[in-house]
Amino acid sequence: MHCPFCRHGDSRVIDSRTTDDGTSIRRRRLCPECGRRFTTIETASLSVVKRSGATEPFSRQKVLVGVRKACQGRPVTEDQLARLAQRVEESVRATGSAEVDAHEVGLAVLEPLRELDEVAYLRFASVYRAFESLEDFEAAITLLRAEREATGREPAHLGGGAAYPSGMPRATEDALAGSGGAADSPAPPH
Ligand SMILES: [Zn+2]
Repeated sequence: MHCPFCRHGDSRVIDSRTTDDGTSIRRRRLCPECGRRFTTIETASLSVVKRSGATEPFSRQKVLVGVRKACQGRPVTEDQLARLAQRVEESVRATGSAEVDAHEVGLAVLEPLRELDEVAYLRFASVYRAFESLEDFEAAITLLRAEREATGREPAHLGGGAAYPSGMPRATEDALAGSGGAADSPAPPH
């Protein structure tokens, strides 16, 4: 493999270890030309099968883009987004298959996103699950409330927050009207 510093065509592996979770191998390499060291990470390739039937490599970046759109204007940090995308990748890889449907990637986003921000979750779910009416939102919100009561979890961002003084109806409007054209909507990854 090329040295990323001087582009020398070869490098020597000086250390090699499996990561704690066993899903990848880190190799420490030394360039014999410039003497600098660098690390490579080897993971099993993971392909995503799109609805068209075409496959492409799993991309954490694509997950990030979709989720970031759903989180616009929400109190969510880039750090939290990065951790969410990592969780999504881990749960998709945990299925153990080398190929997953784009649909499964979207599914893997829902749970961690709900924990992160319920409004963003509703936005993402409305696109991903193709909500067609207010009733679809109501059903999703009813479910959220029921689970919150079951777990005793404090309302995370629903019904409060300066950005959404009127609570859910506003969020619903946002998800419907705010998405405008398809290009602007919080699209599920892939
Ligand atoms: Zn070099």
